[in-house]
Amino acid sequence: MSTEFSFTIAATDGAARTGTIQTAHGAIRTPAFMPVGTAGTVKAMLPESVQSTGADCILGNTYHLMLRPGAERIERLGGLHRFMGWSGPILTDSGGFQVMSLSELRRITEDGVEFSSHIDGRRHWLSPESSMEIQRALGSDITMAFDECTSFPADEETASRSMRLSMRWAKRSREAFTERPGHALFGIQQGSLFHDLRAESAEALTAISFDGYAIGGLAVGEGQEAMFGVLDYAPGQLPQERPRYLMGVGKPDDIVGAVSRGIDMFDCVLPTRSGRTGQAFTRRGAVNIRNARHRDDPRPLDEDCACPCCRGYSRAYLHHVFRAGEIIASMLLTWHNLHYYQELMAGLRDAIGGGRLSAFMAEFETLRAAGDIEPL
Ligand SMILES: [Zn+2]
Repeated sequence: MSTEFSFTIAATDGAARTGTIQTAHGAIRTPAFMPVGTAGTVKAMLPESVQSTGADCILGNTYHLMLRPGAERIERLGGLHRFMGWSGPILTDSGGFQVMSLSELRRITEDGVEFSSHIDGRRHWLSPESSMEIQRALGSDITMAFDECTSFPADEETASRSMRLSMRWAKRSREAFTERPGHALFGIQQGSLFHDLRAESAEALTAISFDGYAIGGLAVGEGQEAMFGVLDYAPGQLPQERPRYLMGVGKPDDIVGAVSRGIDMFDCVLPTRSGRTGQAFTRRGAVNIRNARHRDDPRPLDEDCACPCCRGYSRAYLHHVFRAGEIIASMLLTWHNLHYYQELMAGLRDAIGGGRLSAFMAEFETLRAAGDIEPL
C-alpha cells in the first residue's frame, strides 16, 4: 500500500473530474461524499455499516472531540481510528467553524479564539497551532487549516478583513503542521461572494502550498444560486492538480451542481440528521415518512434501492417506528440516506468517467421533477 498522499485524476468531463485520493488509511474515490462523524460516531450507524454504504472517508469534528472526550485521551487510546472503530481515511475540520457557531462568549484576536464550551461553560483556546496539534493527536489523515468562517451576509470590507486573517492563520497552520507520510493539510479559501477576494485568497493559499484546497464560507445562507455563482469561478482559481473540497454541502442537487463545476469532495450532516427526523432522500426527491399517507403503504421507500431499509421494511413500518419514537427508525432511515448519497456519488463518478455527465444530470432532474410515487 502506498503511504504517500496523492491525488490522481482519471477522467474529466467539462469542469468535473473523477479520480482517487490516496491517504495513509486507504483510498478515497472522487467525487466523494464524507458522512459526518461529529463526536466519534456517525450517528445511528456502526462503522462497518457506514463503510458498506460505499463511504471511503468520514469527517470528525475537532471542536466536539477536544471538548469531549479530549484529544489527549483519544491519542492515549490509540487515535481516533482505533477509538471509534473506523479503519478508513478520516478528515477532521479545524474547529473554527463550530467555535463560531456553537460556543458562547468568543473572543477573537490575531492569536486565535478564546471561547466557552457549550457543554459545561469551561474556557478553551483554539489557534492555528493548537488546532494542528489536536488534529495530529486525533490521527487525522486530512487536516484542515484553522480559519475564520466569514459570517453571511458580509460587506466587502468585513469579508476582506476576515479572509486576510484566515490567510495569516493558514500560513501559521502550515508551519505548525507535522508532516507524516500519507497525511495531508488542506487550506481553505474564503472571500464570501466577492470574486476579487476569492482570487486573492486562492493566490495566498497557493503561495503557502497545500495538499488540497477547500472552498469555505459557502452554504451559510446565501442560497443555491449565489453559491453556484461563486462555484462558477472559484474552483478555477485553485490548483488544477489538487483535490477541491466544498465544506458543509449539501442537498443532492447542490452536490450534482458543484461536481459539474469541479468539486471533488463534500461533507454534510443532512443525510444523517434528516434520517433522525423522518426525512428520506430518494431519486424522486425528499420524502417525509411521518406523513399520514404512508400509514398503510406496504411498499418500500424506494423499490430500486438496495439498502437494508428498502429491502426489508415497508413505508408503513417506517412510519410506525418514527411515530412511536423507536431507535430503529433513525437507524433505518440514516442507512437509506447514506446509501442514497453514496449511490449518487458512484453515479456521478461513472458518468464523468464515461463522458456522459450532462445526460446523468438531465435524468437526475427528470426523476426529481416527477416527485414521489403516487399514494395508494
Ligand atoms: Zn434504501
